[in-house]
Amino acid sequence: MEMRAIDDTCMARDVTPPLPPIAAALHDHLLRSHCSSCLRPLNLPHPLPHSACSAAVSYCSASCSAADLPLHVSSGECSLLRSRPLSAPTTDARVSLRLLLHLRRSSPARIGGLWSNREAMKEEEEVWGRVEEGVALMMSIADRRVSTEEEAEAAMCVVVTNAVEVQFGTGPGPVGIALYGPGFSWFNHSCSPNACYRFVPAWPGPVDPDSFRVSPAGEESALKAWICDENRLYDGFCRYGPRIVVRSIKPIRKGEEVCVGYLDLLQPKQQTWGKNGSSLGTLT
Ligand SMILES: [Zn+2]
Ligand SMILES: [Zn+2]
Repeated sequence: MEMRAIDDTCMARDVTPPLPPIAAALHDHLLRSHCSSCLRPLNLPHPLPHSACSAAVSYCSASCSAADLPLHVSSGECSLLRSRPLSAPTTDARVSLRLLLHLRRSSPARIGGLWSNREAMKEEEEVWGRVEEGVALMMSIADRRVSTEEEAEAAMCVVVTNAVEVQFGTGPGPVGIALYGPGFSWFNHSCSPNACYRFVPAWPGPVDPDSFRVSPAGEESALKAWICDENRLYDGFCRYGPRIVVRSIKPIRKGEEVCVGYLDLLQPKQQTWGKNGSSLGTLT
């Protein structure tokens, strides 16, 4: 899939509306210092911890808690954090649980229009080990919501292939990872990009399918259909996690492919998988 400009576009223009994630989660080491809904630092005298998992997650406000707590519990994330081995990283598995809850109706092979590079990943010992570790965690939850190992594996492959690292503008490093639908994941990466992306705070509300200045080549109606479907569903676009915006960094001609860059290659979590891979953006 590739995204092409639907019009001549000048430099420094947003080519997508702010897109909510399908799923997002804080990195493990920030669970007690950041809000699990908006991913921002708690910085509050009285954050709202969730007592059922011994305050493994907290929220910065009643609205953040209302947006995320039902998903935290019903995805199985709360159970996972209650029972996890202390040394095991859980971020990928927690996003995978949230993805499965969000897209339970979708095919494991192509969850929500997201592409999974499963066969190529199996060839890479380190990456496949990361997938297997997440699957084992998901299957270890006592009251687990994941029905089969195949389902857990499909979700982990999608997360490792498509998730992007989220970073605050001046923060010391990524705060978590987020998974976005075709409105973002269908952009290819390039060594000579003509667009970049940034994160903006979460807010409720639908996405306007007519506010894109790009369109997926060959499947012009697919993106609009997906956006409309998600807008309609009660459990469609999530009401938590940062929204992502793609912006031009060069003038782009009508019909030209719009690509985002491979960002900071020094980031430890960075992987380059297929057309996307985990990559780093900035929360403004
Ligand atoms: Zn919050
Ligand atoms: Zn909990």
